[in-house]
Amino acid sequence: MSGDRLTIGDEKRDILRRVAREVGTPCYAYLLDAMLARVARVRDAFEGRFELSYAVKANPNHGLLQRLHTEVATLDVSSIGEAELTIAAGCAPGRLSFSGPAKRVVELERAVDLGVGEMICESVWEMEQLDAIAGRAGQIMPVCVRINPARCPARFGVNMAGRASQFGIDEEGVSVALERLHGLQNLEFHGFHIYSATNSLSADAIAENFAIFIDLFTRFVDVAPNPPATLIFGAGFGIPYVADATPLDLAKLAALINPAIDEMKRVPRLADARCILEMGRYLVGPEGYLLTTVIGEKTSRGTEIRMCDAGFNAHLAAFGMMGTVIRRNWPMWNLEGDEKGPAGPYMLTGPLCTAIDVLATDITLPVTGRGDVLAVGSSGAYGRSASPTGFISHPEPKEVLVVGMGADAELVDVSSQPVATRGASS
Ligand SMILES: *Cc1c(COP(=O)(O)O)cnc(C)c1O
Repeated sequence: MSGDRLTIGDEKRDILRRVAREVGTPCYAYLLDAMLARVARVRDAFEGRFELSYAVKANPNHGLLQRLHTEVATLDVSSIGEAELTIAAGCAPGRLSFSGPAKRVVELERAVDLGVGEMICESVWEMEQLDAIAGRAGQIMPVCVRINPARCPARFGVNMAGRASQFGIDEEGVSVALERLHGLQNLEFHGFHIYSATNSLSADAIAENFAIFIDLFTRFVDVAPNPPATLIFGAGFGIPYVADATPLDLAKLAALINPAIDEMKRVPRLADARCILEMGRYLVGPEGYLLTTVIGEKTSRGTEIRMCDAGFNAHLAAFGMMGTVIRRNWPMWNLEGDEKGPAGPYMLTGPLCTAIDVLATDITLPVTGRGDVLAVGSSGAYGRSASPTGFISHPEPKEVLVVGMGADAELVDVSSQPVATRGASS
C-alpha cells in the first residue's frame, strides 16, 4: 500500500461541502459513524483481549463525548476539567482513569469526591498526597502505578521513555514505589499503566513496545501488594499526517500482539487482569476535517498564494506547531476542485498577521481560488482544543457532528462546551 495517497470519496466531499454551506468556516466536521466504525474495528481486531479506553484530551468535544463514551469501556482524563466534561456528557465517574503529571491538591480532592474509577499515579509524592486526601474523606481510592520504561523502540513520532520525564515512575524506582504503596492504607493497588510513546504507523514497533510493557508488568507483579485488576497499555497507534503515508496495519498488529497477550495471561498473577488499550488520535483523528475557505489570492514573486480563513489559531498542529520539527503538508483537498482538471502548486496561508501562519507550501491542488472550501484531513484529534483560538481575535472555529451519511445525514452544531470548574482554587 506504500505510496497510496489518502483519498476522500464523493460522499464525504458532499457532506463536508454541506457543512461548510450550512454552518460556515472555519469549522471542524466530525464524521461520527466513521469514528464509531473505527472504534469497533480496533475492538474486533484483538478478539476480546482488550477493552478500549478513550483518551479524552484527543478531542474533548461535548457532543462527541456524549456519543462516544458508551462505545468504550473506560475514558482517560488528563485534568479534573476533563473529568467534569466527561461526566457532564453522561459518563459514570467510575469509568474514568485520571492521569497527569501535576495534579493539584484540589484536583485530587475533587477526584476522590467524584469517585473517579482509577487514579493513575505519576509519582510517590502523588500517592502520598492522595492517600492523605482519601483518608480524610474516609474513602479507599483505586490506583494504578504509571511506569516510565527505560526504553522504547524507534519509529514512534513521540517518545517519552528512557529519559528524564515528568510522566510516571522510572522503571528503576517502581519496586520502591510499590513497597511504599503497601503502607498507604487508603489506596488500593489496581494495576499498572504505561504510555511511553505514540503516533507510530509501524505494527512492528508497537508490538515491540508492547513486549516491553508485558515484560515490565510480569517483573513488577511479584512486588505488587495484590494481583492487578487492570493493565493499561497506552497504545501509541498513529495516524497518517502526510498524504502519502501508509496507515497502520491493524490486522498485522493484532497478529503480533494477540499471542503475546495470551502468553502473558499464563502468568498466574496476571491471569485475571483486564487489559485496556488506551488511545485517542487513532479513534477520532482520521474522520475529522477542518474546513477553511479561501479568502484571498495573490501571486508573489512567482508563488501562487491562497489566503484562508483558518490559521494556526484554529489548528495549531496542521500548521506544524505542535511538536513537529519540520512542517509538512497535511492531507488536504479542495472540495470544489476539479480533480481531473489542471492543477497548480500553491502556498496556503491563514489570516494571522505573522509570517509563521503557513498551512502548506508547494502543494498540488486543482485550480484553487477565492471562495473554494478546503478540507484538512486527520483533524479529529488535537484540533480545536489544542489550538490558541484567542490569538488575534478571529472567530472561534465551529464544531459540527455529522450523524449518518448521505442526503439524510444530520448536522449537529456541537460548538458549545458546558462550563467546567476545572478545579479552580477557591
Ligand atoms: C494523550 C494520552 C493518550 C492518547 O494518545 P494518542 O496519541 O492520542 O493515542 C493516551 N494515554 C495518555 C496517558 C495520554 O496522556
